[in-house]
Amino acid sequence: MTQKPLPALFQEGIRFECQGTAQCCLSRGSYGYVYLTLKDRQRMAKVLKLSTLAFTRTHCAKTDGHFHLKAPEKDCHFLIGTRCSVYSGRPEQCRTWPFWPENLNSKTWNAEIVPFCKGVGKGRLYSTAEIEVLAKRDPIR
Ligand code: SF4
Repeated sequence: MTQKPLPALFQEGIRFECQGTAQCCLSRGSYGYVYLTLKDRQRMAKVLKLSTLAFTRTHCAKTDGHFHLKAPEKDCHFLIGTRCSVYSGRPEQCRTWPFWPENLNSKTWNAEIVPFCKGVGKGRLYSTAEIEVLAKRDPIR
């Protein structure tokens, strides 16, 4: 499938550097799904010194055929203060923020992502090609 070219807004790249506010780890109203690939579950299980099966049974649920962390209506239960307690094993969804396919249009980016995420506009420049690669790594979309 051919991916649509990114809008003009992204053609010169975007600066982004996480500012550690943990805003993206908080449930937004009733929606806080953190989706998990098999690799995510394996990596997180390893960090927690669990088998993948035990991790999945303890921490995951499945909706519409996709694994995600339990209790999506609550803040991520791996968040301690403003720190991710499984940072080295965090899921793809967390690694690729804010470059998710549904965010990469001018309307959503300007109206929702820029005001929401303090890391946008700071730090290193992600090229258009890098943004496209990150968007393709999206776990379920
Ligand atoms: S797994 Fe870590 S980075 Fe991802 S939402 Fe939870 S606390 Fe945040």
